[in-house]
This record gives sequence, structure tokens and C-alpha cells, in this order.
Amino acid sequence: MPRKMPADLYPTEESPGLRVRGGTRYSSSQGDYVCGGCGAEDHANGDANVTRRVEDYTNNHGPAHRGGRR
Ligand SMILES: [Zn+2]
Repeated sequence: MPRKMPADLYPTEESPGLRVRGGTRYSSSQGDYVCGGCGAEDHANGDANVTRRVEDYTNNHGPAHRGGRR
């Protein structure tokens, strides 16, 4: 299993981004994001909620801000 991000690295205002940790059979998946564009932050537990957060971040935050205006 490839490791791209340290598991204990949470996004912060100084280091915005999206972080997702997959669940195991004993724990649900978790997702957190801090948007570098507008400062919004959110977190979720559970596959469905995490997926929704990822879509929200992808569509409305993060790189999406850069696509709209510069
Ligand atoms: Zn944003």
C-alpha cells in the first residue's frame, strides 16, 4: 500500500489541503480539508460523507478557486 501522505499530517491554515484516511473494518474512513482559497474547513466520518467532502472540496474549493479567477 503506497504512502503518499503521513497519516498524522492534518491540513491547517498554513498548509491547506485535503486529507483522507481510509477506514478499516474497525473504523470508518475520515476526511478533512482546509481550503487555501477561502479558508473553509470541514471534516467527515464514513465513506459516504468523506466522498461528499472530497467532491465538495474538488468542485468548490482548493484547485477550483484557481480555475475561476486569478
Ligand atoms: Zn474554498
